[in-house]
Amino acid sequence: MSTPTTADRTLAATVASRLDTRPHDRCAAWIESADRVCGKPSAAHPWLCARHATVAKRRLAKAAAEDEARADRYRAEQERMRPAREARLAAVEARLRQIDPIRRDGLAVDRAAQHAPLAQRLPSDARIEELARLHKRAAGLRRDLGLS
Ligand SMILES: [Zn+2]
Repeated sequence: MSTPTTADRTLAATVASRLDTRPHDRCAAWIESADRVCGKPSAAHPWLCARHATVAKRRLAKAAAEDEARADRYRAEQERMRPAREARLAAVEARLRQIDPIRRDGLAVDRAAQHAPLAQRLPSDARIEELARLHKRAAGLRRDLGLS
């Protein structure tokens, strides 16, 4: 039998408790009811006799189906959340346009404010905090919406 691959290990690990100390020409499946390892000569798969290869494949297929179902539920939840997230992002961006002294495109929102003395142009600590919070929130929403 050839050197076991990662796929062989993954398959065998669904029925065996450990593989590292077991030769792969013997079935390493743990038989719970008998409190021992199967030990039959392995058939087409390393560490697995024909019977336990079938059991392992069934478990792996079941796990894959569960993963797929979980991924489907996640995608459905993302879609369900989309309108609310888009609305929240629009609100955050509207507030940012209102209070951000410099637009993303580099144009000042308010030319008069731009030419005001520096001391008057400096945003307050509270305003800077709000800007940071809103920018962070907007970035998180864009990421959740797959926009960045
Ligand atoms: Zn076996």
